Amino acid sequence: MAAKEEDIFAHTLVDIDIIDEAFDKDLFVLYYQPKINLGTKKVESAEALIRIEHEDGKIIYPNDFIPLAEKNNKIVDIDRWVFKQLIEDSRYISMMTQEPISISFNVSTSSFLEDDFLQNLSDIFNFTTDFDSVFEIELTEHSLLQDVKKSIQKMNRLKEMGFKLSLDDFGTGYASLSHLRDFPIDCIKIDKIFIDELEIDDKTTKIVESIIYLAKKLEIKVVAQGIEETAQVVWLHEHNCDEIQGYYYSKPLPIAKFTKFVKAINQRDRENSFIVWSKKYSVGNYAFDTQHMIIASILNNLYKEIKANKHISDVGDYFELLDRYIVVHFEAEEKYMRDTQYKGIKAHIKAHDDFKKIFENFKNSGVSNKEDSIKLFKILKEWLTSHELGFDKLFLK
Ligand code: C2E
Ligand code: MG
Repeated sequence: MAAKEEDIFAHTLVDIDIIDEAFDKDLFVLYYQPKINLGTKKVESAEALIRIEHEDGKIIYPNDFIPLAEKNNKIVDIDRWVFKQLIEDSRYISMMTQEPISISFNVSTSSFLEDDFLQNLSDIFNFTTDFDSVFEIELTEHSLLQDVKKSIQKMNRLKEMGFKLSLDDFGTGYASLSHLRDFPIDCIKIDKIFIDELEIDDKTTKIVESIIYLAKKLEIKVVAQGIEETAQVVWLHEHNCDEIQGYYYSKPLPIAKFTKFVKAINQRDRENSFIVWSKKYSVGNYAFDTQHMIIASILNNLYKEIKANKHISDVGDYFELLDRYIVVHFEAEEKYMRDTQYKGIKAHIKAHDDFKKIFENFKNSGVSNKEDSIKLFKILKEWLTSHELGFDKLFLK
């Protein structure tokens, strides 16, 4: 399984004061989780996810404070904070990536049901200004079913205002076909509980296949969320899912790292790239090929930044992205080798360890000395390309 956000499941009991403190001290922050388009292998959209981030780096996750905020009538204020922050963040994202990234965000049931919800939104989002971004609202069936008629009216109004609409956690609620008919939605997000059972439970697999088929017929985009496994990526690619979101490609990232991730992946293979991605590197497995491509893209950008003597924090962000990516990718490969009882697993793991060592070396010495950095990069490149052409092709035959 891919690495997780460390303490996502640690249920710290959060006191209501934490929410007030977060407002007073400005501790709310939006992270962005990339969604990968399986056709273009690019990041064309991302979900904004809120956290409370303390100065000492401690993070409180939404599952630990959103339910509390809902109970204590603080959720509408939080949602309003999110809407405002999205405006600022979207400008930063389009400036840094120079790409039209669509940004989705969650709206709580209480906010959606409020009479002045539409007014609040239109006060904040003024689409007559120079937005490059498309905004997509993620709604749950639970919100929409409180008053179906009113919901449809609100949704139509939101579409007129320029928002796209997405049905979140599809499959966990009522997942009624009539909702697909009646609600003017642009996208459905298949919930992780279905994805976890792909190819494990026969019925679930058929249901997901049918959801994708139906969505295609209705011209609704399908996003699968909670992707952690190689086999899930391969299956979803083969079954024409449009986009996937999950730790397999990236956990939610702070905005500066997110924009670097997007830049690395979407602007890959520029003429002067250090590693130009080509078919010859393909190992014939969609999931691994894409991860390899992402590693090469991040490596390219790290190289470029160091050569240009860029600001240390930019270099640091690429280091962290690569550092984390290596872990995620090596874990995925090693799991795959164990599952398929590949005989050469020991040698392959040793090759991974060698790379980690070179990279560790590089992190400790590379940034201060440009010439050594470039030498080390050459070693990393040699390693990466021979690994893909040799080791990975071997075990994926
Ligand atoms: P959600 O809208 O279903 O968001 C997806 C959740 O799945 C996120 O958790 C995300 O980090 C997590 N996730 C993504 N990929 C994976 C994966 O591969 N494995 C696993 N185990 N988890 C994955 P997060 O950020 O903790 O958010 C939890 C929920 O809190 C969200 O569920 C949403 O309902 C709510 N939430 C988050 N941000 C906001 C916000 O700004 N406003 C409101 N009203 N609710 C929010
Ligand atoms: Mg969501």
